[in-house]
Amino acid sequence: MISRASVLLLLLILWPAPSMPADNCKNTAEVVEIATGIYVRPGKHTVVFDGEAAANIGFIVGNRCVAVIDTGGSYAEGQALRCAIRSVTTQPVCFVINTHAHPDHMLGNLAFREPGVFYIGHKKLARALALRGTVYLERAAQQAGRPVGPEHIILPDLSIDGQLRLDLGERVLELVAHSVAHSDNDLSVYDEKTGTLWLSDLLFMEHIPVVDGSLKGWLTLLETLKQKPARRVVPGHGPVQDTWPDAASDTQRYLSTLREETRERIEKGDDLREAQKTVAYGEQTRWQLFDSYHKRNIIAAYTELEWED
Ligand SMILES: [Zn+2]
Repeated sequence: MISRASVLLLLLILWPAPSMPADNCKNTAEVVEIATGIYVRPGKHTVVFDGEAAANIGFIVGNRCVAVIDTGGSYAEGQALRCAIRSVTTQPVCFVINTHAHPDHMLGNLAFREPGVFYIGHKKLARALALRGTVYLERAAQQAGRPVGPEHIILPDLSIDGQLRLDLGERVLELVAHSVAHSDNDLSVYDEKTGTLWLSDLLFMEHIPVVDGSLKGWLTLLETLKQKPARRVVPGHGPVQDTWPDAASDTQRYLSTLREETRERIEKGDDLREAQKTVAYGEQTRWQLFDSYHKRNIIAAYTELEWED
């Protein structure tokens, strides 16, 4: 029996790729070609998502069309990425892949909206955006100093549960929707042609990891992902690429230290406030933005581990 997703995928493949309209490109994002046809726009380590490029985002060029992987934290960032695409290829964009719901990765979505562009995300992405979207827009408006309307949140046309293969024209991407880890709607992209594993925020480097899903789930998933042979990996924050699976070591060390030291505090009977003063401060000098996210990570860890057997 042919599933609905397969029928839709077939339609997507047969759909004539749209031609991109001319853009007025005042700002073009600077991108790095990390492997043939794979471009990454490096993010900076910042908690401000408007006017700053916080996350690693980019695109992959096939013989038929282009897949965008994350769109940045604002319309302007998405537009600058779109201009970067125009600077390297005449192929149209056919897919916008959102790796998860966090605003620094998806608030540039609107810049790619036109007929023939399909938005793709995890099956839980729409739910996450329904729960958090308004808050993300309010925060973006505060940072921008102007209203940021609901049109900036674009829900997926195709939601993935499990795996999906996308053909960009002699270039197949394997998308995987993961169980709860960094968030509850993480999606990874693997480019078979170059052996590039785009993990987005399932992997942090330099920038402290942010736990918004499950600490234990994330550690388990990293162990599984490490078994996947890949020539290179793209983290959501940090360098535009690194070697796999070695690149996982810092994220794994931070998360397991957070898990072990939180467990110790819970066993000793410390409450959350006490735990926030003591857990995993040995990691402080190893990460950028430690002060912005570490205490929140302890809350996430404590809440998750408090009731475990
Ligand atoms: Zn994230």
